[in-house]
Amino acid sequence: MFNDTQRNYFKTLKTPFYYYDMEVLNQTLQQLKAAAPADYHIHYALKANANPEILQLIKHYGLGADCVSGNEVKRALETGFKPEEIVFAGVGKSDDEILLGLENDIFCFNVESSHELLVLNQLATQQGKTASIALRINPNVDAYTHKYITTGLEENKFGINPYELDDILSLLKTLKNIRLSGLHFHIGSQITSLTPYKNLCSRVNEINQFFIHKGLTVEHINLGGGLGINYKEPDTEAIVDFDAYFQVFKKFLALHPGQAVHFELGRSIVAQCGSLIARVLYIKNGITTNFAILDAGMTELIRPALYQAYHCIQSLEPAVSEERTRKYDVVGPICESSDCFGKAVVLPELKRGNLLAIRSAGAYGEVMSSRYNLRDETRSVYSQLGQINVGF
Ligand SMILES: *Cc1c(COP(=O)(O)O)cnc(C)c1O
Repeated sequence: MFNDTQRNYFKTLKTPFYYYDMEVLNQTLQQLKAAAPADYHIHYALKANANPEILQLIKHYGLGADCVSGNEVKRALETGFKPEEIVFAGVGKSDDEILLGLENDIFCFNVESSHELLVLNQLATQQGKTASIALRINPNVDAYTHKYITTGLEENKFGINPYELDDILSLLKTLKNIRLSGLHFHIGSQITSLTPYKNLCSRVNEINQFFIHKGLTVEHINLGGGLGINYKEPDTEAIVDFDAYFQVFKKFLALHPGQAVHFELGRSIVAQCGSLIARVLYIKNGITTNFAILDAGMTELIRPALYQAYHCIQSLEPAVSEERTRKYDVVGPICESSDCFGKAVVLPELKRGNLLAIRSAGAYGEVMSSRYNLRDETRSVYSQLGQINVGF
């Protein structure tokens, strides 16, 4: 929820913009650090939000980085994340991106296919380097989340399937510039039940055992990310239960002595600190539907259009007694019918100029913004303990 100072400040700004509450981020990081066992390594998934201010604070808490492109590796290095704490995943790493990782001696390439292994070995040989890798294995665990953000099933494009492992292991023996360091798993995103993680642990134990039987005790197991947040009630549950999450792995993961555990969390760290603030441009009342047309659209926040994602929408106008409410389809100005933030949203009666907050937009919001329709660059504003900084 926003206080009067914030609301009055927002009124003076040009909309739309992302507002990041750095205090929420700070508290989330504190709780994350308190919940994670000291020997668990947490990497922040930059793809959720790569805003420099946000990255600075996350780095300050000693997290590593999880990157899925060469430019994310660059951004992580520029922010000051140590190369030996950077993991690099992705099904389609280009030669330049691989070379960048090799040059900087990053901790690990999470490799997604045997073809990629061959190319990585070739490039590493050329550079006189040895690439540390983890095999991203598809554990075939259902994450019970939206199909566009499920990644751990055989039908998904990600990872190596268990039936390929014998061939991969034979191949690895011939690749002199590759060092197998770990096993990597990532089953999907916005996972709100801990059951998929429990199932993941049993599969990881089997796969780890398979490698141990082959005489390969890997140094680290990376369990990916995907922990979901409460989009329905961002104020009552601003921070996810990291304790319960890590307990699952403490309890169900069977490690060989010396094996390190890594995680890659994105959304659960940054989603709740961000809101998209927009102004009502027009009200269009129809027979069956009232539209509130905002100055923000899918170009600023595409999740509803892309994954039918729900975001809580709140009015930022002061409450008046005996307020009339109405149902609105809250839409943007973009020339696409999918440019809609919510249907039949109950809100106090809206007027032109009123401000709305679209909550829980800190993850996969600004990073996915586009300039479709030649829209202006997306802007962001940060709160900073007591003072407020504006960044563009
Ligand atoms: C996207 C992604 C993550 C982070 O996922 P969240 O749902 O944001 O926690 C972690 N690892 C990999 C490989 C990813 O692709």
